[in-house]
Amino acid sequence: MSAGWRLAEHGTPVTVLERDDLATGASSATSHMLHGGLRYLEHYEFRLVREALHEREILLAKAPHIIWPLRFVLPHHAGLRPAWLLRLGLFLYDHIGARNRLPATETIRLDRHPAGVALKPEFKHGFVYSDGWVDDARLVVANAFDARARGARIRILSHRSPNGRLSPRSRRIASHRIAHRSTVARSATRA
Ligand SMILES: Cc1cc2nc3c(=O)[nH]c(=O)nc-3n(C[C@H](O)[C@H](O)[C@H](O)COP(=O)(O)OP(=O)(O)OC[C@H]3O[C@@H](n4cnc5c(N)ncnc54)[C@H](O)[C@@H]3O)c2cc1C
Repeated sequence: MSAGWRLAEHGTPVTVLERDDLATGASSATSHMLHGGLRYLEHYEFRLVREALHEREILLAKAPHIIWPLRFVLPHHAGLRPAWLLRLGLFLYDHIGARNRLPATETIRLDRHPAGVALKPEFKHGFVYSDGWVDDARLVVANAFDARARGARIRILSHRSPNGRLSPRSRRIASHRIAHRSTVARSATRA
């Protein structure tokens, strides 16, 4: 849906065909995180993380009614990478992309911070960093509405007429498209 929205934003004619219903696929079953991909820094994917952080900022600005800032606590222990290395990674995470709306990483003493209350005493230090969480299904629907407002055609193939049957139009599209069971968001080739 996001690809469809992007094409519509650029004025490209687009039809999004959805076999079941909006947000019935992976997009309604995520861990609801709006993140920049902190873990990809381990694989030196700096460009990917920068792009994702940039996108995170755009979405935070565009849809604050369905996306909320979230603080994550990362307790440090001996089994992890050295604390200085984690701090460096989090410093990069704070700075290589856009971060206008979210607070920066903090290093905390867990014995003095509310986040440490439920932890065993051996956890002494930790980090608190920012990402967001999103109502993913609503984001898909919001994208669909906005794409449609920009001229995209959204076709939900399973939509049925009041008598419970697929409408003739849906049936026609479905018979042309559904057999392939490939992904959505292809350019307009409506039958
Ligand atoms: C367990 C898990 C957790 C995740 N957590 C996160 C997270 O926290 N944050 C994050 O950003 N990303 C997360 N992701 C990744 C994210 O879910 C996916 O990148 C994203 O949802 C993919 O969107 P999509 O539109 O490509 O696929 P989908 O959301 O699956 O949409 C594909 C749609 O195509 C339809 N379709 C399929 N075949 C056809 C056909 N032949 N004709 C018409 N329509 C068809 C389906 O019905 C479906 O609605 C997670 C993924 C998984 C699996």
